[in-house]
Amino acid sequence: MNADQPITGFGPDFPFAYDDWLSHPSGLGAVPEAALGEEVAIIGAGLAGMVAAYELMKLGLRPVMYEQGRIGGRLRSEKFQGADNVIAELGGMRFPVSSRGFYHYVDLLGLQSAPFPNPLAAASPSTVIDLEGVPVYIEGTGPIPQPFAAVQQAWAEALESQTDFAALQDAVRRRDVADLKTRWNQLVAQWDERTFYDFIAASPAFSRLSFHHREIFGQVGFGTGGWDSDFPNSMLEILRVVLTELEDGQRYIKGGVEQLPRGLWAHAPDNIRHWPAGTSLSSLHSGAPRPGVARLAREESGMIAVTDRWGDTRRYKAVLSTCQTWLLTTAIETDEKLFAQKLWMALDRTRYMQSSKTFVMVDRPFWTERDPLTGRFPLSTTLSDRITRGTYLFDNGPDQPAVICLSYSWMSDALKVLPLPSERRVALMLRALRHIYPDLDISKHIIGDPITVSWESDPGFLGAFKGALPGHYRYNRRMFCHFMQQDLPPDQRGIYLAGDEISFTPAWAEGAVQTALNALSGIMHQFGGASPPDNPGPVEQFAALAPLDLGD
Ligand SMILES: Cc1cc2nc3c(=O)[nH]c(=O)nc-3n(C[C@H](O)[C@H](O)[C@H](O)COP(=O)(O)OP(=O)(O)OC[C@H]3O[C@@H](n4cnc5c(N)ncnc54)[C@H](O)[C@@H]3O)c2cc1C
Repeated sequence: MNADQPITGFGPDFPFAYDDWLSHPSGLGAVPEAALGEEVAIIGAGLAGMVAAYELMKLGLRPVMYEQGRIGGRLRSEKFQGADNVIAELGGMRFPVSSRGFYHYVDLLGLQSAPFPNPLAAASPSTVIDLEGVPVYIEGTGPIPQPFAAVQQAWAEALESQTDFAALQDAVRRRDVADLKTRWNQLVAQWDERTFYDFIAASPAFSRLSFHHREIFGQVGFGTGGWDSDFPNSMLEILRVVLTELEDGQRYIKGGVEQLPRGLWAHAPDNIRHWPAGTSLSSLHSGAPRPGVARLAREESGMIAVTDRWGDTRRYKAVLSTCQTWLLTTAIETDEKLFAQKLWMALDRTRYMQSSKTFVMVDRPFWTERDPLTGRFPLSTTLSDRITRGTYLFDNGPDQPAVICLSYSWMSDALKVLPLPSERRVALMLRALRHIYPDLDISKHIIGDPITVSWESDPGFLGAFKGALPGHYRYNRRMFCHFMQQDLPPDQRGIYLAGDEISFTPAWAEGAVQTALNALSGIMHQFGGASPPDNPGPVEQFAALAPLDLGD
């Protein structure tokens, strides 16, 4: 690695090079002959479940997937009725290029991506920032006018003065584990119990500016907007986002990101052990996962019994749970003895953020046609303090209807619309947008039915994603490190956890991939396997890379 290397999702808590592990010619590892064909239950056919199942199948084990809803989980690309292939991305929609584990699988399946039309990104013809009733119009990538430029500058200064950011990020870039650990571990101790808002308010850079500048920062954030929703979160969570450039270089998956989990389900890998050529997860399951899980229990024999919602019970030596952790309490009757009470504390204290999106399909990308009177584009990617919060424009090309995400909001803004049906949500959003664009009638362009989602109202999710609160580092560490099972009492072994909320970077698909690979490594060891010496995995590297232990 040299200084020209890009920033990737390398650490900072567990600086393991997942991308190198995945692409190494020696492969991820092997299990002994005797273990070939052994069944492993996987709860959840989202990205984490699918990545783990795909790699377990390649090792020659037999993943048995359970899913309560639809394949893909929170990677859900919903098709508009009446159009061939026009979609609304209801969950994950923009994927930073630093997410190297995620793109490993995107590339494996040959999926295409393109720059996401973020505010002030080259892929957005124009951006409007609408605060306190004053819309500011900006074309392309700028220049960014005052006072926004001052806020952007203050954020950069706040990061530098309080975290030595450039040097910290350089350690990520160089993959210098010793340097990164020294720097990051100090920040863990310093910032775990303090909020994002505290970081901003306490910084010399923002202290020099007005309260209004902090408000602007909350609305506009450092790129994609809406950061005041994260103000109560632990500052560590925000630092990880900026450090590993999760807010930069974002792309969308052409045709919908749901193709990723669905593609892994259908893909027949070349280098597969034990199974005949042409085997896929779909073929191993005769085309559909098992039903949702209703009960998990340890039996006298030591096996873990998995009972589905229709009452069928099957027994496994290893079970991987990738559903949101609250569901282990609310949707699944989970034998308490499967996890230590300290781990239950972490699982149950997980704090979910709410999120809502409302989309409409429109006849054409009319926002690319300049208004002859003003010379401006008539509608822009819009960040607002109104109920819409974020409005995004998707141009599907000249021969396709286009899509507007009228509103992407979080927390209290998402809760405001929680009980409302889709038509009412659309009406509210159009009313808000009319204040910003008084001369534009968006509704005359709308075709088909709107699509909306509130993740917190879905009993299969209960929230959009984790947002760790101050003091949650220890909980995060307990969940993340649980794949290391050799020191656990025997009655707590054999059940694994994965998913973005098990990672230190919740709300990002890369966290789902990385924790799925941790679980894979743990399961491989449980069955007597290991990674090759020239390509050690998360289990083999754990002692050298383990996240800082703050003690209780
Ligand atoms: C609104 C929103 C926006 C997002 N934006 C981005 C983004 O821009 N970029 C990005 O990288 N990430 C984003 N994410 C995060 C990304 O979508 C997730 O990290 C990823 O999809 C999580 O995958 P997972 O497998 O961990 O969990 P999930 O996708 O939640 O999969 C868990 C699965 O378990 C299933 N399940 C639940 N209960 C049971 C049961 N009892 N039995 C069997 N199965 C069960 C669920 O149905 C689900 O399919 C976003 C998420 C949301 C919600």
